[in-house]
Amino acid sequence: MSAERTFIMIKPDGVQRGLVGQIVQRFEQRGYKLVSMKFTQPTKELLEEHYADLKQKGFFPSLIAYMLSGPVVPMVWEGKDVVKQGRQMLGQTNPLASLPGSIRGDFSIDIGRNICHGSDSVESAQKEIALWFKENELTQWKSSTHEWVYE
Ligand code: ADP
Repeated sequence: MSAERTFIMIKPDGVQRGLVGQIVQRFEQRGYKLVSMKFTQPTKELLEEHYADLKQKGFFPSLIAYMLSGPVVPMVWEGKDVVKQGRQMLGQTNPLASLPGSIRGDFSIDIGRNICHGSDSVESAQKEIALWFKENELTQWKSSTHEWVYE
């Protein structure tokens, strides 16, 4: 089945630079199914929880300040292998190491302004989805293109 889910979030720079539509379009065009999406100003507490694994890093305070600097677009996308494919669509953490054709490789330069987040494993996707969305915010629908995307 194709029910794997990932958590993708357009960061404040992606919103400010008007890239929301283009990033959403890439996942839609690939054939992935949108399960949920919001436009929201996250709290410091939520961001510190989201990035809890990086708490010891020297860049943690600037990462939180960057992520607090404006609204973000958290999303849940569903489909076959979507966690790994989502990471490939994003590119590397450092945009300068990201190939053209990837979101970070096409739209960004600095590691501290890398446009978009994507879960790095199925396990962290589950944690992040539960952190950012309530169960009743996750839609249940069948895309009419399903049979044209999957064999
Ligand atoms: P990813 O977002 O690719 O999963 P990490 O989880 O390692 O990468 O880091 C989270 C975010 O922290 C990165 O997307 C980036 O915005 C920021 N970051 C990571 N490493 C650095 C660094 N060396 N300097 C500044 N910011 C960083």
